[in-house]
Amino acid sequence: MKHSLTYELIKKDSRTKARRGVIHTLRGDIQTPVFMPVGTQATVKAMRPEQVEESGAEIILANTYHLMLRPGHKLVEEAGGLHKFMNWNKPILTDSGGFQVFSLKGLRKITEDGVTFQSYIDGSRHILTPEIAVEVQTSLGSDIMMAFDECPPYPADWHYVKKSLDRTNRWLQRCKDAHHNTEKQALFGIMQGGMYYDLRKESAEKIVEMDLPGYSIGGLSVGEPKEQMLEVLDYCVDFLPDNKPRYVMGVGTPDYLFEGVERGVDMFDCVLPTRVARNGQAMTSEGPLNMKNKRFEHDFTPLDHKCDCYTCRNYSRAYIRHLVKSNEIMASMLLSNHNLHFLINMMKGIRKSIEEDRFLEFKKEVYEGYYGK
Ligand SMILES: [Zn+2]
Repeated sequence: MKHSLTYELIKKDSRTKARRGVIHTLRGDIQTPVFMPVGTQATVKAMRPEQVEESGAEIILANTYHLMLRPGHKLVEEAGGLHKFMNWNKPILTDSGGFQVFSLKGLRKITEDGVTFQSYIDGSRHILTPEIAVEVQTSLGSDIMMAFDECPPYPADWHYVKKSLDRTNRWLQRCKDAHHNTEKQALFGIMQGGMYYDLRKESAEKIVEMDLPGYSIGGLSVGEPKEQMLEVLDYCVDFLPDNKPRYVMGVGTPDYLFEGVERGVDMFDCVLPTRVARNGQAMTSEGPLNMKNKRFEHDFTPLDHKCDCYTCRNYSRAYIRHLVKSNEIMASMLLSNHNLHFLINMMKGIRKSIEEDRFLEFKKEVYEGYYGK
């Protein structure tokens, strides 16, 4: 089957599963491994799209759950789709809404058909099914849409995860059947199976058999120990074909990005860089800095001497500390801009290190700077 999105493998690291590639889409190429900034409500918080682009972002993520409730996907469609509505012309990935809906403990009910839930905005009742998740994402007009799945909680027993996986597989088939705009939008499948290797294998075989343009490894980073998460991830990746992109959702600290890349993952997203920015934290090559700290009061150097972003070119730590302490909006704007730049630049460094076959050396350098020796 011909897809609207293709993956080109450029180079493999000789010592790990890390790989350098390009995702070709109708709205432009995405160099991988890639970090995708999150624009939950059709905006990367505190940043204009021009700044997001200037930071080097080649794709952003938006949330189906939030946008279907407000302003409503039909309104976004009326505006000409999400790209036009929010003034972002590069690729957009939308999630299915499933993750948020399943997180609404007590406020939702799961059946074979889908999930009924109450709106967090006004308490009104809604239903999300595989067909509706595809319909909403079709209205939004994202370049990559995600299948509607259940992410089982952690811990969960084998029988629960097995039942959930069987339903997720049936839901995936329903998503595929409901997805007609295949010339413009790519549907990604999501591997589940909890922490159980036999179920992970079963899930992988099922999604790969569907011949989708890309695959996500879901159900990780849900509260399990880091070592276990990495072991399961390592196991899962081996089932996925070389010629399709692999995506781990909701991961964004430097260590998880490196560990994911090392295990062959191409795509990541997380709200982390902009969220911590709004709490006054700068992510730098010397580690995270709390800008409220008194030690920055008279520090007239940039946030990160290795960074050439707009914030670091023009403002000092002392000034940013002052803005944070004064609760000025500009503090969030400058810190979000820098943090996003920092993470995207780190991914650029990762890509270069794979090209030069020095990924592990680069990882060590960044770790020593960020986490200390
Ligand atoms: Zn900077």
